[in-house]
Formats: sequence, C-alpha cells, structure tokens
Amino acid sequence: MPYSRKATRQPRRHFVGIRDLDEANWKVTNEMAALRVWTDELHEVEVRLVPLSLDCYGWNQGHIHIPRVSGAQLFDLWHGFHTRLTDILRHELAHAVADIHPDFVDSSRFVRCFGGGHDDDDPVLEYDPRHHVTRYASVRPCEDFAEIFHLYLRHQGRLPQRLAVKKPILKKWEFVHRMAVRLAAGKCGF
Ligand SMILES: [Zn+2]
Repeated sequence: MPYSRKATRQPRRHFVGIRDLDEANWKVTNEMAALRVWTDELHEVEVRLVPLSLDCYGWNQGHIHIPRVSGAQLFDLWHGFHTRLTDILRHELAHAVADIHPDFVDSSRFVRCFGGGHDDDDPVLEYDPRHHVTRYASVRPCEDFAEIFHLYLRHQGRLPQRLAVKKPILKKWEFVHRMAVRLAAGKCGF
C-alpha cells in the first residue's frame, strides 16, 4: 500500500468509479511515457475495476485489479487517511514492470541496493524511515522496490532533497533510475 496521508474525510473518494480509474490510469501512463519506461509489453497489462476486495489492491496474473470497495480504502476512511489512486497505480505498475522485465530485479544489483532478493518473503529490516520511504516498504524487498518506483514516477525521476540525504534510500532510487535509463534505451536488463 503506497503512501497515505492524514486528510479530511471525504467518503466519496474512498469508493473507486470507472472514471476515477480511467483518469488516474491516463495520468500515470503518461508519466511513464514521459520517462520512456512505458514499454510495448506493458500495453498488454489491463487495469480492471473489480467489485470488492477485503485485503488489498493487486497485481494479479498479468493485470492490475483495483476494487471499487476495498478493505484498505475503508481502513483509510475510518482512520481519516487518504491514499491517492494514482499512487496505488504507480505502485502496482512497479510490480508489473518487475514481473514483465524480471532481469532487472533478478540481479545482484537489486540485492546490493535493497538488502535482499526481490522475491524474498522476509523483511530485510524493521521499518526505519532512514531506509524506507513508507512503512509498507519494509514488508518485503519487492514492496520496497514498488514504493521507490512509485515515488520515482510521482516526482518525474527527480529525487526530493529530503530523501537524497538518506543514503540507503538514495541507493534504491539510483537502482530505479538506472533501470529507467535502460528501459528508455530499449534494454530489458542491466
Ligand atoms: Zn505491492
């Protein structure tokens, strides 16, 4: 689950409609195209609106499923948080890129930068804001990667200064940046 922030409660935005999803998808696809990381293979990925999920959003067998009503959104509504749909899509597209172009994440560079293998189930470290951009990033290396990738898209490839001073995060960011440069050059590995 990507970055969520405290916000005034607006129940409507915790229920996803097809227009919300289309708009968010359009925006994020354009961000990826501008960074030239939108590859031909990603055209095959469908972003689908599904009725309900009580656990989470998901990258699911080659497609992204976004529930109209989800446990995560209800949690946010209850606790007065808001997670942007664009951030959710950026995060799920990170999983898509990792699965579709696996040579990047199945690499020793990934292990050096993220402290563990992409598909490891165990956390590398407990949540530590010097190492993780969100609490969810500490769950597993693949989520850590997806959280960094989502920020990379959100900030159009420019690392915010508040994060640039944190060396472990800078290392992960540079991984994503190198990957983006390779993808932009039409290469599917380092
Ligand atoms: Zn994820």
